[in-house]
Amino acid sequence: SEGGSSNFDYFYLVRQWPATFCNDHTCTHSPPNRFKFTIHGMWPQRTDGTWPEYCDPGNPFSVAKILDLLPSMIRTWPSWSGENRAFWSHEWTRHGTCAERLVGGERGFFKAVLGLHKQLRIEDALAAAGIGPSGEKAYEGRVLQRALKDGLGTYHHIFCDAKGNLAEVWSCVGLDLRPFDCGAQRDAPALRGPSALPPQNNACGLRVKIPPLDRRYARRGA
Ligand code: 5GP
Ligand code: 5GP
Repeated sequence: SEGGSSNFDYFYLVRQWPATFCNDHTCTHSPPNRFKFTIHGMWPQRTDGTWPEYCDPGNPFSVAKILDLLPSMIRTWPSWSGENRAFWSHEWTRHGTCAERLVGGERGFFKAVLGLHKQLRIEDALAAAGIGPSGEKAYEGRVLQRALKDGLGTYHHIFCDAKGNLAEVWSCVGLDLRPFDCGAQRDAPALRGPSALPPQNNACGLRVKIPPLDRRYARRGA
Protein backbone atom coordinates (compact mmCIF):
# COMPACT_ATOMS: atom_id res chain seq x y z
CA SER A 1 0.00 0.00 0.00
CA GLU A 2 0.95 3.68 -0.08
CA GLY A 3 3.92 4.92 1.87
CA GLY A 4 2.84 6.34 5.18
CA SER A 5 -0.30 4.24 5.39
CA SER A 6 -0.65 1.47 7.92
CA ASN A 7 -0.41 -2.22 7.47
CA PHE A 8 -3.73 -2.67 9.27
CA ASP A 9 -7.22 -1.22 9.37
CA TYR A 10 -8.19 -0.67 12.99
CA PHE A 11 -7.40 -1.69 16.57
CA TYR A 12 -9.03 -3.82 19.20
CA LEU A 13 -8.78 -2.28 22.64
CA VAL A 14 -8.97 -5.41 24.80
CA ARG A 15 -10.03 -5.36 28.44
CA GLN A 16 -10.40 -8.33 30.76
CA TRP A 17 -12.45 -9.25 33.80
CA PRO A 18 -9.81 -10.27 36.37
CA ALA A 19 -11.98 -12.78 38.24
CA THR A 20 -12.52 -14.82 35.09
CA PHE A 21 -8.85 -14.64 34.14
CA CYS A 22 -7.87 -15.86 37.60
CA ASN A 23 -10.48 -18.62 37.54
CA ASP A 24 -8.87 -19.96 34.37
CA HIS A 25 -5.16 -19.22 35.00
CA THR A 26 -2.84 -19.36 37.96
CA CYS A 27 -2.69 -15.79 39.17
CA THR A 28 0.32 -14.51 41.03
CA HIS A 29 -1.46 -11.35 42.10
CA SER A 30 -4.85 -11.11 43.73
CA PRO A 31 -7.20 -8.63 42.01
CA PRO A 32 -8.83 -6.23 44.46
CA ASN A 33 -12.52 -6.61 45.16
CA ARG A 34 -13.90 -3.84 42.97
CA PHE A 35 -15.82 -3.64 39.73
CA LYS A 36 -12.97 -2.66 37.41
CA PHE A 37 -12.02 -4.29 34.16
CA THR A 38 -8.28 -4.09 33.46
CA ILE A 39 -6.41 -3.55 30.21
CA HIS A 40 -5.04 -6.49 28.26
CA GLY A 41 -3.78 -4.58 25.25
CA MET A 42 -4.50 -2.75 22.02
CA TRP A 43 -4.04 -4.83 18.92
CA PRO A 44 -3.72 -3.73 15.30
CA GLN A 45 -6.19 -5.66 13.17
CA ARG A 46 -7.11 -6.08 9.50
CA THR A 47 -10.64 -6.32 8.21
CA ASP A 48 -9.87 -9.74 6.71
CA GLY A 49 -9.38 -11.11 10.23
CA THR A 50 -5.59 -11.27 10.12
CA TRP A 51 -3.23 -8.97 11.96
CA PRO A 52 0.43 -7.92 11.93
CA GLU A 53 2.53 -8.65 15.00
CA TYR A 54 6.15 -8.41 16.22
CA CYS A 55 6.75 -5.64 13.67
CA ASP A 56 9.92 -4.08 15.07
CA PRO A 57 12.11 -6.34 17.21
CA GLY A 58 14.74 -3.59 17.10
CA ASN A 59 12.54 -1.41 19.31
CA PRO A 60 12.23 -3.27 22.60
CA PHE A 61 10.11 -2.07 25.51
CA SER A 62 11.80 0.54 27.66
CA VAL A 63 10.15 1.41 30.95
CA ALA A 64 12.22 4.63 31.00
CA LYS A 65 10.01 5.98 28.19
CA ILE A 66 6.81 5.75 30.23
CA LEU A 67 7.91 6.68 33.75
CA ASP A 68 5.27 9.38 34.01
CA LEU A 69 2.57 6.89 33.02
CA LEU A 70 3.52 4.25 35.59
CA PRO A 71 0.99 5.19 38.29
CA SER A 72 -1.85 4.83 35.76
CA MET A 73 -0.30 1.73 34.24
CA ILE A 74 -0.03 -0.01 37.60
CA ARG A 75 -3.64 0.86 38.41
CA THR A 76 -5.28 0.03 35.10
CA TRP A 77 -2.94 -2.36 33.26
CA PRO A 78 -1.68 -4.78 35.92
CA SER A 79 -0.55 -8.30 35.17
CA TRP A 80 -2.40 -10.86 37.26
CA SER A 81 0.06 -13.51 36.25
CA GLY A 82 3.71 -12.53 36.44
CA GLU A 83 5.44 -9.18 36.45
CA ASN A 84 3.77 -6.06 35.09
CA ARG A 85 6.83 -5.14 33.04
CA ALA A 86 6.96 -8.51 31.32
CA PHE A 87 3.28 -8.15 30.36
CA TRP A 88 3.73 -4.58 29.09
CA SER A 89 6.88 -5.56 27.23
CA HIS A 90 5.05 -8.43 25.53
CA GLU A 91 2.14 -6.19 24.55
CA TRP A 92 4.48 -3.52 23.13
CA THR A 93 6.68 -5.96 21.23
CA ARG A 94 3.88 -8.07 19.81
CA HIS A 95 1.27 -5.42 19.08
CA GLY A 96 2.44 -1.88 19.86
CA THR A 97 5.43 -1.99 17.50
CA CYS A 98 3.03 -2.52 14.59
CA ALA A 99 1.52 0.89 15.28
CA GLU A 100 4.60 2.74 16.44
CA ARG A 101 4.57 5.32 13.65
CA LEU A 102 0.83 5.88 13.90
CA VAL A 103 0.82 6.48 17.66
CA GLY A 104 4.19 8.18 18.00
CA GLY A 105 6.33 5.47 19.53
CA GLU A 106 6.14 3.56 22.76
CA ARG A 107 5.06 6.42 24.97
CA GLY A 108 2.40 7.43 22.47
CA PHE A 109 1.10 3.86 22.36
CA PHE A 110 0.69 3.46 26.10
CA LYS A 111 -0.71 6.97 26.49
CA ALA A 112 -3.29 6.30 23.79
CA VAL A 113 -4.38 3.04 25.40
CA LEU A 114 -4.69 4.63 28.84
CA GLY A 115 -6.75 7.47 27.39
CA LEU A 116 -9.15 5.15 25.57
CA HIS A 117 -9.52 2.95 28.62
CA LYS A 118 -10.54 5.97 30.68
CA GLN A 119 -12.92 7.13 27.98
CA LEU A 120 -14.66 3.77 27.44
CA ARG A 121 -15.77 2.77 30.92
CA ILE A 122 -17.16 -0.72 30.67
CA GLU A 123 -18.27 -0.81 34.30
CA ASP A 124 -20.27 2.40 33.97
CA ALA A 125 -22.06 1.13 30.89
CA LEU A 126 -22.95 -2.16 32.56
CA ALA A 127 -23.87 -0.59 35.89
CA ALA A 128 -26.22 1.84 34.12
CA ALA A 129 -28.13 -1.23 32.94
CA GLY A 130 -28.13 -2.76 36.41
CA ILE A 131 -25.45 -5.29 35.46
CA GLY A 132 -22.57 -6.17 37.75
CA PRO A 133 -20.58 -9.01 39.30
CA SER A 134 -22.73 -11.63 40.94
CA GLY A 135 -22.40 -15.18 42.12
CA GLU A 136 -25.98 -15.93 41.09
CA LYS A 137 -27.13 -13.71 38.26
CA ALA A 138 -26.60 -14.55 34.62
CA TYR A 139 -27.24 -12.35 31.61
CA GLU A 140 -27.83 -12.96 27.95
CA GLY A 141 -24.78 -12.00 25.92
CA ARG A 142 -26.84 -9.70 23.76
CA VAL A 143 -28.13 -7.90 26.86
CA LEU A 144 -24.54 -7.11 27.84
CA GLN A 145 -23.83 -5.95 24.28
CA ARG A 146 -26.93 -3.74 24.33
CA ALA A 147 -25.75 -2.13 27.58
CA LEU A 148 -22.27 -1.57 26.11
CA LYS A 149 -23.71 -0.05 22.95
CA ASP A 150 -26.07 2.20 24.92
CA GLY A 151 -23.38 3.31 27.36
CA LEU A 152 -20.33 3.53 25.12
CA GLY A 153 -21.94 4.28 21.78
CA THR A 154 -20.44 1.46 19.74
CA TYR A 155 -20.77 -2.27 19.16
CA HIS A 156 -18.50 -4.41 21.38
CA HIS A 157 -17.31 -7.97 21.01
CA ILE A 158 -17.55 -9.98 24.20
CA PHE A 159 -15.84 -13.28 24.91
CA CYS A 160 -16.56 -15.87 27.55
CA ASP A 161 -14.70 -18.87 28.89
CA ALA A 162 -15.97 -22.43 28.67
CA LYS A 163 -18.01 -21.96 31.85
CA GLY A 164 -19.84 -18.94 30.47
CA ASN A 165 -17.90 -16.41 32.53
CA LEU A 166 -17.31 -13.05 30.85
CA ALA A 167 -13.59 -12.96 30.02
CA GLU A 168 -12.90 -10.06 27.65
CA VAL A 169 -14.55 -7.03 26.09
CA TRP A 170 -13.11 -5.79 22.78
CA SER A 171 -13.70 -2.20 21.62
CA CYS A 172 -13.02 -1.21 18.03
CA VAL A 173 -10.76 1.81 17.62
CA GLY A 174 -9.98 3.46 14.30
CA LEU A 175 -6.63 4.56 12.92
CA ASP A 176 -7.61 8.04 14.13
CA LEU A 177 -7.64 6.54 17.66
CA ARG A 178 -11.38 7.14 17.99
CA PRO A 179 -13.79 4.36 18.91
CA PHE A 180 -15.97 3.30 15.99
CA ASP A 181 -18.83 0.92 15.42
CA CYS A 182 -17.42 -2.31 14.05
CA GLY A 183 -20.65 -4.29 14.20
CA ALA A 184 -20.36 -4.99 10.50
CA GLN A 185 -17.19 -6.96 11.12
CA ARG A 186 -18.57 -9.11 13.88
CA ASP A 187 -19.12 -12.11 11.67
CA ALA A 188 -15.78 -12.00 9.92
CA PRO A 189 -14.85 -15.68 9.65
CA ALA A 190 -11.39 -15.26 11.10
CA LEU A 191 -12.52 -13.32 14.15
CA ARG A 192 -11.99 -15.34 17.24
CA GLY A 193 -11.49 -14.78 20.90
CA PRO A 194 -8.58 -15.77 23.07
CA SER A 195 -7.35 -19.05 21.62
CA ALA A 196 -6.75 -20.48 25.07
CA LEU A 197 -10.52 -20.97 25.13
CA PRO A 198 -12.35 -23.52 23.00
CA PRO A 199 -13.58 -21.63 19.90
CA GLN A 200 -17.16 -22.75 20.34
CA ASN A 201 -17.17 -21.17 23.77
CA ASN A 202 -15.72 -17.84 22.82
CA ALA A 203 -19.02 -16.31 21.90
CA CYS A 204 -21.04 -15.62 25.02
CA GLY A 205 -24.33 -17.46 25.16
CA LEU A 206 -27.58 -17.14 27.00
CA ARG A 207 -26.23 -17.36 30.53
CA VAL A 208 -23.22 -15.10 30.90
CA LYS A 209 -21.86 -14.74 34.41
CA ILE A 210 -19.64 -12.00 35.78
CA PRO A 211 -18.06 -13.76 38.74
CA PRO A 212 -17.46 -11.67 41.85
CA LEU A 213 -14.01 -10.91 43.21
CA ASP A 214 -14.91 -11.86 46.73
CA ARG A 215 -12.25 -14.41 47.38
CA ARG A 216 -8.52 -14.71 47.09
CA TYR A 217 -7.29 -15.85 43.70
CA ALA A 218 -3.54 -15.76 44.18
CA ARG A 219 -2.08 -19.25 44.27
CA ARG A 220 1.61 -19.63 44.68
CA GLY A 221 3.94 -22.44 43.82
CA ALA A 222 1.21 -24.33 41.96
P1 5GP B 1 -1.41 -11.37 23.73
O1 5GP B 1 -0.38 -12.24 23.18
O2 5GP B 1 -2.67 -11.19 24.16
O3 5GP B 1 -0.95 -9.98 23.43
O4 5GP B 1 -0.97 -11.61 25.25
C1 5GP B 1 -0.51 -12.92 25.54
C2 5GP B 1 -1.06 -13.43 26.76
O5 5GP B 1 -1.61 -12.42 27.55
C3 5GP B 1 -2.15 -14.45 26.61
O6 5GP B 1 -1.59 -15.72 26.61
C4 5GP B 1 -2.98 -14.20 27.89
O7 5GP B 1 -3.09 -15.37 28.62
C5 5GP B 1 -2.10 -13.20 28.57
N1 5GP B 1 -2.67 -12.40 29.62
C6 5GP B 1 -3.90 -11.96 29.85
N2 5GP B 1 -3.93 -11.29 31.00
C7 5GP B 1 -2.69 -11.34 31.50
C8 5GP B 1 -2.10 -10.84 32.67
O8 5GP B 1 -2.73 -10.23 33.53
N3 5GP B 1 -0.77 -11.04 32.79
C9 5GP B 1 -0.02 -11.71 31.86
N4 5GP B 1 1.28 -11.86 32.06
N5 5GP B 1 -0.56 -12.21 30.77
C10 5GP B 1 -1.88 -12.02 30.60
P1 5GP C 1 -4.80 -15.96 22.94
O1 5GP C 1 -4.23 -17.28 23.27
O2 5GP C 1 -4.70 -14.92 24.00
O3 5GP C 1 -6.01 -15.87 22.10
O4 5GP C 1 -3.97 -15.53 21.69
C1 5GP C 1 -2.65 -15.25 21.85
C2 5GP C 1 -2.49 -13.88 21.38
O5 5GP C 1 -2.80 -13.75 20.01
C3 5GP C 1 -3.36 -12.89 22.04
O6 5GP C 1 -2.99 -12.66 23.33
C4 5GP C 1 -3.11 -11.74 21.11
O7 5GP C 1 -1.83 -11.27 21.32
C5 5GP C 1 -3.18 -12.43 19.80
N1 5GP C 1 -4.53 -12.43 19.22
C6 5GP C 1 -5.49 -13.36 19.36
N2 5GP C 1 -6.57 -13.05 18.65
C7 5GP C 1 -6.28 -11.87 18.03
C8 5GP C 1 -6.99 -11.02 17.13
O8 5GP C 1 -8.12 -11.26 16.70
N3 5GP C 1 -6.32 -9.91 16.73
C9 5GP C 1 -5.08 -9.60 17.13
N4 5GP C 1 -4.52 -8.47 16.69
N5 5GP C 1 -4.39 -10.38 17.96
C10 5GP C 1 -4.99 -11.49 18.40
